[in-house]
Amino acid sequence: MNDIIHLLPDAVANQIAAGEVVQRPASVVKELLENAVDAGAANIQLIIKDAGRTLVQVVDDGKGMSFNDARLSFERHATSKISSADDLFHLTTKGFRGEALASIAAVAQVEMKTKRQQDKIGTLVNIEGSSVKEHAPAAVQDGTSISVKNLFFNVPARRNFLKSDNIEFSHIEEEFNRVALVHTDLAFSFYHNGKLLLQLQPSNFKQRIVNIFGTHYKDKLYPVEMETDVINISGFIAKPESAKKKKSEQYMFMNGRYVRHPLLNYAVETAYTQLIPEGFKPAYFLKLQVDPATIDVNISPTKVEVKLQDERLVFGFLNSCVKKSIGMMSLAPQIDFEGEAALEISQIRPSTDEPVFPKIGVNPNYNPFETVPGHKTGGGSHDSSWRSGGGTQSGWNDFLQGIKNETDNLSNATPNTQTSAAFDDTSDEILIETNAPFIIQNRYIVLKLNTNLTVIDIVAARERILYERYSDSLENQPVAVQSCLFPETVSLTAAGAELLLEIKDELLKLGYDIEQIDRTSFAVNGVPFGEEASAVQTSIEELLESYKSNLFLYRSEKNKNIALSLARQKCLHFKPFANDTEIGDFVKQLLACQIPYTTPSGKKTLCVLSDNMLKELFVK
Ligand code: ADP
Ligand code: MG
Repeated sequence: MNDIIHLLPDAVANQIAAGEVVQRPASVVKELLENAVDAGAANIQLIIKDAGRTLVQVVDDGKGMSFNDARLSFERHATSKISSADDLFHLTTKGFRGEALASIAAVAQVEMKTKRQQDKIGTLVNIEGSSVKEHAPAAVQDGTSISVKNLFFNVPARRNFLKSDNIEFSHIEEEFNRVALVHTDLAFSFYHNGKLLLQLQPSNFKQRIVNIFGTHYKDKLYPVEMETDVINISGFIAKPESAKKKKSEQYMFMNGRYVRHPLLNYAVETAYTQLIPEGFKPAYFLKLQVDPATIDVNISPTKVEVKLQDERLVFGFLNSCVKKSIGMMSLAPQIDFEGEAALEISQIRPSTDEPVFPKIGVNPNYNPFETVPGHKTGGGSHDSSWRSGGGTQSGWNDFLQGIKNETDNLSNATPNTQTSAAFDDTSDEILIETNAPFIIQNRYIVLKLNTNLTVIDIVAARERILYERYSDSLENQPVAVQSCLFPETVSLTAAGAELLLEIKDELLKLGYDIEQIDRTSFAVNGVPFGEEASAVQTSIEELLESYKSNLFLYRSEKNKNIALSLARQKCLHFKPFANDTEIGDFVKQLLACQIPYTTPSGKKTLCVLSDNMLKELFVK
């Protein structure tokens, strides 16, 4: 009889389990806050001392526990939240494993006071390193208060493993934020060393974000909204320009639980590609709701990791709705889908500059009552419908429709003399116009989009349009080659010739039919439709120069590098627009791009002067 296996005593088993659940004071904060939420509390207080080393206390006004349950709650696998394995796939509570209190009590001195509303008297439990010191009736308030003192008092190795107070505190703050962000209907207060740090009243999501992270967030957030059969997504993403190099506020919640999911994080971050420099992180606050049967949250003891049944589908929805939000909101900065009050005039910082009055010239032949076919005058019926859409899904649709109407009007319009006059930028007069676009400084289109004064940088916009067109030719639909009657010869350096050989096949998809003659010279047998073959030597040299300088950045993205290099080169050479129709078509092409508002390298293609910005210009 040499059997050597025996069951571990509970206290030891609990201490082992505690290793997984309780890593630091912040883990205790998380478990206690989640229990308070699960208990249906409306008010939750978090009280800590010395970054949680000496005390973590959570007081709630939830449903409390009976005398027996109060004692039982410290047993391992003691839970009121599930009773069968099947329940794991219909979870509506944060907890379900029934091991948090047992684990915490194994490595700390815990005092619990609890009382149900229907009971005359409550219960006090004192437990230390898994051994119950006291379990007695006590006169206490409705709800539950759990104090966890001297964490790891009996496990010096773990205690020594804790980091500085600053680091431990920031972990606690993070856990608090995660719970407070998702339960915006509850009130929270947070005390550290006797000082009230934060008091949160029930509010909407945006307000809660602002209350936690500061008022500067108020103007930084774009709303995100999507409802499908598979997933509902709501929340906010931060404007690209507020992205940070280091840690950014990134919060994703799934079915009310904070989750960390690299693929979903990637879905959000890639939607910002080209809008923020590499290595920068956008902030986001997103709530995803899926059928609980399609996710598994029971893959880690802290339940932060989650497994999805159909990751690709969720990825696609999330990515496209974030992209849409970025696109829509950068075009419509003044539409506040939360319906919050507009900025008060008194809040606007007065300008100290003396105003400079422009010289205004009026076209004497212009008759505002004469309707140009297909050309609506300002303040048309669609204007008011866009404004009425704020706060609803129809706001988005109206906005889209508005832009479509507006650009349709532009390209349907017959050229009119008043507009053409505006092209004459040798005059310093400003012509009074209705709905017509015009061009200033030979570089910018000025027009009304969705009731906003919008200025488009033609060069930047062209770069974006060409980039997307070239990418499409490379990936999907090669363009037709226009054969040259007499092939042009291009001579390059040896290094240039190497590079050209590397991208020759891709250039054919873009309409350049190039054939090597000897080591450094090439015959160009065809060019894209509409392009002069005679300029091809310079075109190719410039293209190779740009391609080479991007090689490091786009090592593994050859097509992107080619499309980018060619777009950058071609955007500088363009013919002036002949009339409104051409401008309208150009604006339409820009708005039809996947990412219309920046160049591939993140430079703005358009600026919108919102209502508030306009008002600000006139405040004395
Ligand atoms: P779990 O939350 O996974 O069920 P815990 O160890 O965190 O496991 O809690 C055990 C049980 O104790 C819970 O299921 C719940 O019934 C009870 N409990 C814990 N905290 C509270 C609280 N603040 N108010 C009411 N009941 C609580
Ligand atoms: Mg719990």
